[in-house]
Amino acid sequence: MVTMPPEPPPAALRLAIDEAALQDNWRALDALSGKAAAGAAVKADAYGLGVDVAVPALRDAGCRDFYVAHWVEAIPALGHVSAGSIGVLHGLLNAQEASFAKAIGVRPVINSLRQARLWLDAGGGPCDLMVDTGINRLGLPLTDLGNPLIAELAVDVLLSHLASADEDSPLNAVQLARWNDARQAVAHQRASLANSAGITLGAAFHGDLTRPGIALYGGIPCPALQGRIRQVVRPEAALIQVRQLVAGDSVGYNATFTAPAPMRVGVISLGYADGYLRAWSGKGSMLSGDRQLPVLGRVSMDMTVIDLSSAPDLAEGDWVAVDYDLPRAAASTGLSQYELLTTLGRRFPR
Ligand SMILES: *Cc1c(COP(=O)(O)O)cnc(C)c1O
Repeated sequence: MVTMPPEPPPAALRLAIDEAALQDNWRALDALSGKAAAGAAVKADAYGLGVDVAVPALRDAGCRDFYVAHWVEAIPALGHVSAGSIGVLHGLLNAQEASFAKAIGVRPVINSLRQARLWLDAGGGPCDLMVDTGINRLGLPLTDLGNPLIAELAVDVLLSHLASADEDSPLNAVQLARWNDARQAVAHQRASLANSAGITLGAAFHGDLTRPGIALYGGIPCPALQGRIRQVVRPEAALIQVRQLVAGDSVGYNATFTAPAPMRVGVISLGYADGYLRAWSGKGSMLSGDRQLPVLGRVSMDMTVIDLSSAPDLAEGDWVAVDYDLPRAAASTGLSQYELLTTLGRRFPR
């Protein structure tokens, strides 16, 4: 007979998620979207936060449109919102995906004539249509807009995606003009162009629906969003060992930090396998209240050593928070705010 092991104790690391801040960020972006409604990009497990936390919080704040990238990502979202409120950005790769889309009632985002054909062959029905206006990534080329297959589609949202919304780039006006041309050329219910940064480019970019992602989760992709977006995600980890160093002791792999004087240090259960990448070696810090506890030496796979000089009260079993303000974290590591969220590892309970 197989005996069940007891419930494991809680992990020594966790993601503190401020759901009220997530909701406030959605409300702020919805207000900045003017007459358009703000939806939400929730691909990649809601940018690493966890769909099961983010989608119900966004739904309760009033969000009605959710975009994922892969078909498997639609399944957890369906636990919280209706099928008609979900779109799958990667569209249809084959007939199997088309029949799966029909079966669950989630809209594919059609990105090519081939995808249009697959959808119509599967029976068609409401879909979204992505047109490429200059990013040259996913989307129907403008030259295919007049193809009779496109006229057969029942297009709910006509989308395009901006390449440089976070910059003052001439490409923004070019893409806007092409998107407006596409709106004239194809029958549709709603039109959508702006991601988080695109929302700040003005009413002409809003259409009927905006699709913020990063700013919902506390990222600030452009100066115009500064002061309007609150931090949402804060990784936390437990101190699993505390030790006393003497002057001359070195810390961690390759001994890249040497104690200049006696000091008390702590080892936390967070490392690069958790998404706290080696880019933070010798740079990051933890917070205990508002006390800064700098990272010493290299980040390891499962552990990071921190300076406890300013927090003599902390002991094994106590928790510290990672200083994870996204714009500052990106500036100090060279990682993007998107990478800082989506690399957070699987050991964080979600
Ligand atoms: C990821 C994504 C978004 C959200 O972009 P952010 O820059 O995170 O706001 C919007 N639209 C599409 C098509 C996307 O792929």
